[in-house]
Amino acid sequence: MKYTLLGLFADKVATLDGYSVLLAPLAAQTGKHLFDDISDSHFLPSYDIVLIDFSTKSDAVFVRMVLERFAETAKIFIISPYSSSDLAKLIPISKNIDAVMQKPLSLERLKTLFVNHTRIIDRQRMVVEKTELFSEIVELNPSFISVFSREGVLFYANTNFMKAFSINAEDIDTITFNEIKRCDLSFKLILDSLQIQPMYIVQREDNGKWYESHFYAILDHYVVHVCDNITEAKYKEQQLEQAAVFFEQSNEALMIADTNGKILSVNAAFCRITGYPKDEVIGRTPHILYSGMHDKAFYENMWGSLVHNGSWQGEIWNRRKNGEVYPEWLSISKATSARYNEDFYISVFTDISSIKETDRKLYFYANHDPLTGLANRVNFESQLKKQLEICKRRDLQIALLFLDLDKFKEINDTYGHTIGDAVLKTVTKRLTSSVRSEDFIARLGGDEFVIIAAGAENTEGILILARKLNDVIKEPITIDKHVFFISLSIGIAIYPEHGANTEDLIKHADAAMYEVKESGRNGFMLYDERFGQKISFRIQTQNELIRGINNDEFELYYQPVINLQNGKVIGAEALIRWHHPNNGLVFPNSFIPIVEEGEYIHEFGKMVYLKAIQDLVSFHQQIPTDKAFHVSVNIAPKQFFETDFVKNLVLTAQDFGIHPSAIELELLETQIMKSPQVAQDVFSELSQHGFKIALDDFGKGYSSLSYLKLFKLNKLKIDQSFVRDMLDDNNDKEIIQTIISMGKIFGMNVHAEGVETKAHEILLKEMGCDCAQGYLYSRPIPLGEFLQWYREYHSA
Ligand code: C2E
Ligand code: CA
Ligand code: CA
Repeated sequence: MKYTLLGLFADKVATLDGYSVLLAPLAAQTGKHLFDDISDSHFLPSYDIVLIDFSTKSDAVFVRMVLERFAETAKIFIISPYSSSDLAKLIPISKNIDAVMQKPLSLERLKTLFVNHTRIIDRQRMVVEKTELFSEIVELNPSFISVFSREGVLFYANTNFMKAFSINAEDIDTITFNEIKRCDLSFKLILDSLQIQPMYIVQREDNGKWYESHFYAILDHYVVHVCDNITEAKYKEQQLEQAAVFFEQSNEALMIADTNGKILSVNAAFCRITGYPKDEVIGRTPHILYSGMHDKAFYENMWGSLVHNGSWQGEIWNRRKNGEVYPEWLSISKATSARYNEDFYISVFTDISSIKETDRKLYFYANHDPLTGLANRVNFESQLKKQLEICKRRDLQIALLFLDLDKFKEINDTYGHTIGDAVLKTVTKRLTSSVRSEDFIARLGGDEFVIIAAGAENTEGILILARKLNDVIKEPITIDKHVFFISLSIGIAIYPEHGANTEDLIKHADAAMYEVKESGRNGFMLYDERFGQKISFRIQTQNELIRGINNDEFELYYQPVINLQNGKVIGAEALIRWHHPNNGLVFPNSFIPIVEEGEYIHEFGKMVYLKAIQDLVSFHQQIPTDKAFHVSVNIAPKQFFETDFVKNLVLTAQDFGIHPSAIELELLETQIMKSPQVAQDVFSELSQHGFKIALDDFGKGYSSLSYLKLFKLNKLKIDQSFVRDMLDDNNDKEIIQTIISMGKIFGMNVHAEGVETKAHEILLKEMGCDCAQGYLYSRPIPLGEFLQWYREYHSA
């Protein structure tokens, strides 16, 4: 530090290295002036050091005045010829003098004095500044801070505290802790606690908010209370606790990994699904689960989505610890931890192998004929549509071949289904080996097959194919020592010559096939316009239908439905029969398809429903004890989607005093699925009225699980084809088991159709199936016979 005292006392005030110094030259001529300055009450500068030149006794008054003004705040140095004791006599407040320097003045000493005292000034300034700073910090602190004396009296409170506790400045030093507290703590308890621990912490809830108080003692006399609003932290903590429970107990596997892919934690479901215990995965990467079934592009796409959207979801194949590969539905999302400001990846997945398996089976059965494994009608129709679009675009031709086995029905009726089925399988084998790989072959049902053959530009080629098909089928078929000779009728229609759309093409190939049948079977024929008239067969049937309805040629037969668990009859299915004036008793399979596609289906449907209601009245009259008995009525899809469908049903039932709960409506799932939204509405309307609803031929169509959940259904009727083979075919048995479990999950009854033997009944009952129907109990019989049968059954 360097001080230069230039021209000592030349000026009144000097600044020396940042310290303000008042030079008080007491020589009379300038002294007067300074005196004026300092006696002016407004002019009260503060100085760090006041240097007084006290040379003559006459200056004593003035020196005293200067001392009075500045001795409290500044360092006082006096330069004087008088000794300290003399000075004490001259100026009574001399105890405030910091240093006295005898004249002649030693500049060296003055400098040393400066250095020592400015250091002290620095320290004092620092202390003041820090005190101010600390009090500001406490004042502005967001916490509620207060200080109490050991007696519990409020000594200090920061603004936040004052506001929160509605305290005024006057309350300080008067009000006590116990008077303002918001908790059930007493000040004594706090003091006692602080005897044994340095800090006492409590949390409390007040009006849905959480507070945490810290109490600690300072300077032996005071207790500091710092209180914080921890609502948010508390909430997060609770959430974390819940999350932790959820995490561990979730049925879905959960995995958290850092941005390097290192696994940080997994839950119990993860371990169960993957087979890895926790300690074998933590710290490793998901690579251990890689199945090798996806290519690089798959993972690149996944990462791309994670980086850009922060999430990815989809189906992925992974590998369990035991090496088994399985599909899972995985969703990954990126999350940022607010506390650590780090990114994490959270993966949630479920093992979907069982769903996939069911889906696969259902998909297969929806699109294939279970007996032959060929494509089914639904599949064929969509395939034909697709092919026609391609042909249209590329200007190509294709041929549609309709194949019908001649006299197959006779084999079936004489030798039974098992033999019949074996014949169909052999026929299928021969047909498939005769067509080219680009041809499409399907079984439409019964003994009808269809082939879509490409390359019809060459008509001759198509005819050669047809001839070949006729030839292979003519070869004898041997089954169980029986030899069968069968033949094939083939009708052919070519796009675009014989029809520009699927409908016409099908109609015309069918017509050509009928023509072959009529002209003695076993052969093939290209469509000819003249055949169109043959289509009139259908028109004729439609006309006869109207006559039949008017002449009351129809009758409902009844087939009982049995509760498998207690053996009781719970209802009956109404199945229509036609007493045709020329053809005798006609079964529905030969006319229902024609009726359902025609325009009289509504009249027909109404007639069936009315008959069923009338029969129900008879039933109730004859067997008044069985109130729970219900009749199942088959509903055609066109009927179902008719406006006023529900209203008409309700009104008719009302007219006869029948409650809708005695009526079960059977609907085909395939047709319902064409318009699931509308169906859902009709279903809920029906169930509001109390009608029971059954899904008929279940398992044949594509049974979308999600829709089943939406629909208000009472029953699933397992299709006969599954029941028929369930004893020998594990696949069918499994499908039935799946349907039964599905029914349980969705709260629906499961009904087996086509139960022909005791063995079927026993197995179905064991599998948990609810009810059954089939020849084992009774064939469909007229109402009178049914009532008879009912009485006998229950008396037996
Ligand atoms: P569906 O609704 O699946 O009816 C069951 C069919 O299986 C009936 O044929 C019944 O006689 C037959 N069946 C019952 N138990 C057995 C069994 O143990 N073994 C075998 N092999 N068959 C059994 P049905 O009476 O010839 O009726 C055929 C189809 O015609 C019905 O199939 C139904 O889709 C339709 N249908 C019948 N009546 C009506 C009706 O009033 N309206 C409408 N829209 N369709 C009807
Ligand atoms: Ca039915
Ligand atoms: Ca059925």
